[in-house]
Amino acid sequence: MKLGTIDLSKVRHAVVIGGGNTAVDASRELRGLGVPSVTMLYRGVKENMSGYAHEWSAAFSKGATAEWQTVVTACTGAGHVQQVQCVRVDTNKNPVAGTEFTLQADLVLMAIGQAKLGNMLAVLPGIRVDRGRIMIDEHGYTGRPGWYAGGDCTNAGKEVVNAVAEGKIAAHAIDAAIMGHMNANGNATSKIARTGGSSHA
Ligand SMILES: Cc1cc2nc3c(=O)[nH]c(=O)nc-3n(C[C@H](O)[C@H](O)[C@H](O)COP(=O)(O)OP(=O)(O)OC[C@H]3O[C@@H](n4cnc5c(N)ncnc54)[C@H](O)[C@@H]3O)c2cc1C
Repeated sequence: MKLGTIDLSKVRHAVVIGGGNTAVDASRELRGLGVPSVTMLYRGVKENMSGYAHEWSAAFSKGATAEWQTVVTACTGAGHVQQVQCVRVDTNKNPVAGTEFTLQADLVLMAIGQAKLGNMLAVLPGIRVDRGRIMIDEHGYTGRPGWYAGGDCTNAGKEVVNAVAEGKIAAHAIDAAIMGHMNANGNATSKIARTGGSSHA
């Protein structure tokens, strides 16, 4: 969801909640954009974070810091966030009494994932959704005539190169279908549709 531009010029202390690649990315970018203090809060141990270790190293080298085994209990402030109340958690993610502490924060970013909306499409005849992923065949065909998909909504989140490749495969299949190389169910009936067709590259 795009919520517009945030003015970072007055942000002195940013807190990023999460331990995945989005949290790591946000921490590094905030430092790159000039925010003096950036703290990433992750509820697990460093070794278990889902963000790539080399990405965290890059963020750390830019000046981002982290509080491991830490969760937020409240955001407080007068009219806007000014502090984040935190507590350490054990390896079972249970709060440890007596470990409460406060961080200054004038910006808090939540990077703890988003619910997939794949089920929105599951009501359409021919479309199958498995754990939020739209199911497709090797041509990007969903099973609903005329409907193709690719990228994060089908592969559960990989990289741009995967999304581009899958988009290209689906584009070839759509082209083949329009050109009559695919039957009504979306199955390839020619080499062009099966392989993507070098003549279409
Ligand atoms: C923080 C972060 C950092 C990343 N860094 C990298 C990186 O360094 N290198 C890399 O290769 N990959 C990276 N990725 C992954 C990469 O962004 C994705 O794999 C890629 O963008 C997937 O492309 P996509 O087209 O499938 O989905 P998206 O890029 O998510 O595009 C989907 C589009 O559909 C729109 N949309 C959603 N719902 C609707 C609707 N109902 N109607 C109309 N439009 C809709 C969305 O607004 C969005 O514009 C990163 C991802 C994140 C979150």
